[in-house]
Amino acid sequence: MDVNLKAGSLSQKVVVVGSYNADMIIKAPRLPRLGETILGGRFHTSPGGKGANQAVAAARAGANVVLVARVGDDLLGQEALRGLQAEGVNTDHVSVDHGNQTGTAWIIVDDRGENCIVVASGANACLSPDDILRAEASITASDILLMQLECPVPALERAMQIARRDNVTVILNPAPAMPLSAGFLSGVSIITPNEVEAEMLTGVKIGGEESLVQAAGSLHNWGIGTVIITLGARGAFLSTAGEHRFLPAFQVTPVDTTAAGDVFSGCLAAFADRTHSLQDAVRVSMAAAALSVTKLGAQDSAPTLEAITQFLAHSPR
Ligand code: ADP
Repeated sequence: MDVNLKAGSLSQKVVVVGSYNADMIIKAPRLPRLGETILGGRFHTSPGGKGANQAVAAARAGANVVLVARVGDDLLGQEALRGLQAEGVNTDHVSVDHGNQTGTAWIIVDDRGENCIVVASGANACLSPDDILRAEASITASDILLMQLECPVPALERAMQIARRDNVTVILNPAPAMPLSAGFLSGVSIITPNEVEAEMLTGVKIGGEESLVQAAGSLHNWGIGTVIITLGARGAFLSTAGEHRFLPAFQVTPVDTTAAGDVFSGCLAAFADRTHSLQDAVRVSMAAAALSVTKLGAQDSAPTLEAITQFLAHSPR
């Protein structure tokens, strides 16, 4: 694929407003039944949270990234700051919330890769409009504001108001799936739902092309200029006013699809700029997401710009 990945993307300024969670993962032969205890699990931890995952994906793809988030006043919070800084993510606006714990996600994965998850939001639930105001200058100076739905909506609304006022492009990855007001959606420039999220927002059951056109149409009707519905191993559906196309996924052997959507949106924020067409930015993001599913982990699976470039050089257009 003939895309110059270096030009432009290195200087793209991205502010991510979102969550940080420490993922606590237990691999077990099977998921326990209600009231049952099973032995034989293996435990490991890994950094996660949709905001932090997308911030790291954007930074590895070459963007200049500021994360606005909250972590707890605990060891996990210290680890979060160290890890993000090691990835080159600016943490000036990651507040340490005294008297609160860092968000955690408790994940049980069975031998077939099925999982169940409980999230203890901790400090993420306290991200406030005041936190956003403290980061106002960074948002104003950015090219892209990237958000998800793991933090309180009033904080996201404040960030969106600042971005809209200053002509900053707003990308919303509407995950996890939840209903949103028309007023909130009307401030979004680019939305990246997966099938479940698209269905939740529009009421349209996603299947073939007709349903994708219909779902994208209702999102356009709320004032969103660009709709990208991600379709897992099928690829993605890109719709802008008056034009739409289906882009098939890159063929890979999946190992762990956790955070494919996070890598996609993070990478899109790095490449949705003036030097790449929107379609090229989506293709690059699909390549990054495909690479991420060949690796275990959430943040850990996000590829570098170099890995994406090499993968694209060997992939047919
Ligand atoms: P989410 O993780 O939010 O549910 P998706 O599953 O739709 O998001 O994945 C996002 C993108 O990642 C897809 O549009 C696709 O480009 C890529 N992707 C996901 N799963 C695979 C896969 N098995 N093979 C290749 N690409 C994949």
